[in-house]
Amino acid sequence: MLIDAEQWPAGLVKQAEVCVVGAGAAGISLALSLATAGISVLVLESGGFGGDRRRQALYRGQVADERLHSPPDKYRQRCFGGSTTIWGGRCMPFDPWDFETRDWAPDSGWPIGYADVASYYPAANAMVEAGACVYDADAAFDPSEEALIRGFASDSVLTSSLERFSCPTDFGKRYRRRLASEANIEVMLNANCLDIALSTDGGSVASLAVGVLSGKIFAVKARYYVLGVGGIETARLLLASNSVCRAGVGNDYDQVGRYYMTHLGGVIGELTIQRPLRDVRHGYLIAADGVYCRRRLSLSADAQRRLGVGNMLARLHFPPIADPKHGLGVLSALFLARRLISYEYAYRLRGGAEPGWRDYAAHARNVAVDALDITQFGWHWLTRRTLAERKYPSVVLRNKQNRFSLDVHSEQFPNPNSRISLCGERDEFGMPRVLVDWRYLPEDIESVRRTLRVFAAEFARGGVGVYRFEEDELEAELTRFGAYGGHHIGTARMGDNVKKSVTDKNCRVHGQSNLYVAGSAVFPTSSQANPTLTLVALSLRLAAHLAELLKTPGGLR
Ligand SMILES: Cc1cc2nc3c(=O)[nH]c(=O)nc-3n(C[C@H](O)[C@H](O)[C@H](O)COP(=O)(O)OP(=O)(O)OC[C@H]3O[C@@H](n4cnc5c(N)ncnc54)[C@H](O)[C@@H]3O)c2cc1C
Repeated sequence: MLIDAEQWPAGLVKQAEVCVVGAGAAGISLALSLATAGISVLVLESGGFGGDRRRQALYRGQVADERLHSPPDKYRQRCFGGSTTIWGGRCMPFDPWDFETRDWAPDSGWPIGYADVASYYPAANAMVEAGACVYDADAAFDPSEEALIRGFASDSVLTSSLERFSCPTDFGKRYRRRLASEANIEVMLNANCLDIALSTDGGSVASLAVGVLSGKIFAVKARYYVLGVGGIETARLLLASNSVCRAGVGNDYDQVGRYYMTHLGGVIGELTIQRPLRDVRHGYLIAADGVYCRRRLSLSADAQRRLGVGNMLARLHFPPIADPKHGLGVLSALFLARRLISYEYAYRLRGGAEPGWRDYAAHARNVAVDALDITQFGWHWLTRRTLAERKYPSVVLRNKQNRFSLDVHSEQFPNPNSRISLCGERDEFGMPRVLVDWRYLPEDIESVRRTLRVFAAEFARGGVGVYRFEEDELEAELTRFGAYGGHHIGTARMGDNVKKSVTDKNCRVHGQSNLYVAGSAVFPTSSQANPTLTLVALSLRLAAHLAELLKTPGGLR
């Protein structure tokens, strides 16, 4: 059932078996899975259907260094469906070694292993609608027909890692009807969780304070509470709920909000292929079920261990879009139209130095020369993306020259000084806003540098071509647009050591008997992978855990 918090009488306590805060990918997956297990769930969602300026303004906050991070009301959406209303849909699981303690990566290691998550990936993959749960490209596609670079083989640089694309599924739209019809789910819209009220001994949650923008306040009482509010807001809610524990909930050891990670990304260097272009398949492959997939370059687990580097992947990409020397009219047209594209998708086109008039003239010349290509591209985009239900994921161009850049997406090592905290400003409800202080380490840059050197050496050895990147400019290129936008990771990391983590291996907040976190906030490390498939898998695992607890006599019922 979907209900509006406006209709709930002020002061009347709302009861629930499990209360989930947030109806994004995490909250919706969790709620549906709990309901299937016969457990009744109340989902509190701040937003309504579609974006709304007033609600979105609740996400505003400060950023320590604006060059390094976008404002916190960008790259996340405060509405039913959360950020899946604008996400890109790129999916892939974490690698098994992402869960291991790597002695060259301080604070790495999860309290659970790959095997604990692996069994939930197929169901998570179905939820995000990414087709078959097969992420080995050589198993999913014929390697002789669909090789990334035909004839290239290397023990350390692999081309068998696959990414698959969701529609991209907007969880709000896709699951709205099911949420509305499930007998044991209630979704309360326009319901803002303002405070986690603890019992007097501070060991459990007694209730949540819920506010409606009209000014009404009421309480929710449940047996179990789960925060599914995203990586930044989880820290905010825990820190701001400080009436019993002064430092905030779960924050006895000053861990909440620390280890804030995203990914490092950039379009780096130039690969000149010395083979016929027909040997290169850098674009999308389409699986039998119509799902778009793409091969990527990655470093083997052994090579990562040998080099002491983090996990990273790269895609063959077109040259930097802002530099008209690429001579591609479509890229120039996109560059010139960048102000018409939404903030999140234009950010990496808009940032950087403003080009001079000569660059504009060169872009205009590219557009004029390539008018036919632009028309074809426009038609393709309209039919395969704008109007299609399963959308063509991104711009991939036929390469006229044999030059590519590498689109890098790299793990960020855990860093306790990269953090979300509260600032002096308050939102409309009087809740403190966040201060985002995202930081990276020299080791993050060094890790990418070493990995790219191996790529260059293996491309040369394998006769693929010459890959060059400016080592002195690598840091500037990787941080040119700051933190990778929508991935908010690590702010309530799981761990066995209560002094170095916020949640335990079951995502329960340390010191709280009935409070859990769903979402990428609990990831102790960030992997090369985009986070959503894994956070959905962990939400399904959490649902199974809660269902087990609720069945156990003596479980908190
Ligand atoms: C532009 C963009 C592109 C992306 N592309 C990809 C991609 O290709 N692949 C990928 O894996 N990931 C991608 N992501 C990230 C992905 O969108 C997130 O990982 C995912 O949506 C997080 O889901 P969530 O449920 O944890 O959090 P959210 O989606 O943030 O949902 C949190 C929900 O909680 C609600 N809420 C917040 N505070 C409160 C409160 N106090 N009370 C009640 N409700 C509250 C919000 O309204 C929201 O509905 C992208 C993100 C962006 C912005």
